[in-house]
Amino acid sequence: MTILLYDRGLYIENKKLKLIFDPTSNRSSHLTGTVFITHGHGDHVSNSRYLFNNVNVYLSRASRKLIEVRSGRKFKKVTEIEAGKVVDVENVSIKAYNAGHILGSLQFRVDFPDFSLGYTGDINVEDTLLHEKCSIMEDVDYLVIESTYGSEEYVFPPRSEAYTDIVNWIEKWVLKGVPLILGGFALGKCQELLKIIQKATDVTPVVYSKVYSYSKVYVEEGVDLGRFETPSTTKSQIVVMPHLEYFKRPKSYWRRLFGFKENPKVGVFTGMVMNYKIYSKLLNEYKVDFAYPLSSHADVAGLLEYVEKANPKKVFTLYGKTVRFARLIKAKLGIEAIPLRKGFREVLDRDNI
Ligand SMILES: [Zn+2]
Repeated sequence: MTILLYDRGLYIENKKLKLIFDPTSNRSSHLTGTVFITHGHGDHVSNSRYLFNNVNVYLSRASRKLIEVRSGRKFKKVTEIEAGKVVDVENVSIKAYNAGHILGSLQFRVDFPDFSLGYTGDINVEDTLLHEKCSIMEDVDYLVIESTYGSEEYVFPPRSEAYTDIVNWIEKWVLKGVPLILGGFALGKCQELLKIIQKATDVTPVVYSKVYSYSKVYVEEGVDLGRFETPSTTKSQIVVMPHLEYFKRPKSYWRRLFGFKENPKVGVFTGMVMNYKIYSKLLNEYKVDFAYPLSSHADVAGLLEYVEKANPKKVFTLYGKTVRFARLIKAKLGIEAIPLRKGFREVLDRDNI
């Protein structure tokens, strides 16, 4: 009997094996098993010393580097796995697929003798300037899919339109000599912003805090991000920084810190701006000038399309809008869908689908 469990990580276990996907618990009892990590974002990886020292961990080379940069720890027992590769654990085969989300991001398909399960981690269904769109794990029996933006309000403009809009915004202010701050998540979004800046202007941007170390890993892995510097060595008309860091201080603080002669125009780039409450808070409270839905995740239409193509018999939704997205899957595709909550437990086998 094989069981699926969710408790700060996705567990698939039977008498012979325990597979753990994206554990975030720091308790060592939650980490005894074989661990698979989809990507380097902090909400998918525990920071436990036990995970780094005692546990067999499968992840991509890029994810390993990114996680080691963030945590300051080194993995001791790692098997690096890339998209298209298969590994066997106790006669169960696990195949990695590209997730298209950030550098090195993977999805995993687990094939038991009597059923298969796909776990997407975070996915992007569109090609970006940096990454190919995710592959689709077709004809899995069970699909565990992320639902970060699995609600109707989250429909994003096509990537090409988004890039044109953002390039135009950057060009307009650069030509007028106005300083710019571009904000997004430090890992993934800020590197995409560097690439967009490279298309828009010859100005060499400076990148703030952790963005620099993550960007260096991208470059090491062969991604061309153009030229970028740190604010400690250079002044620039354009700064790229984590938006959450920007929100901690008023615009005047950042103006002084970066040596701008006038208040900068501030752009924030995240899918969350499709939520009107968040959008108006950004504009009114945080004095953001340009809030744009550029996301490293699939929007609700992309998620539904993924489920339709993967053609699973049963779906579990995980992260973000789990309840809403499960309802949408049932209503639009007629497939059984269950939101995963802490403590969820279900027997996986062919008779149960
Ligand atoms: Zn992520």
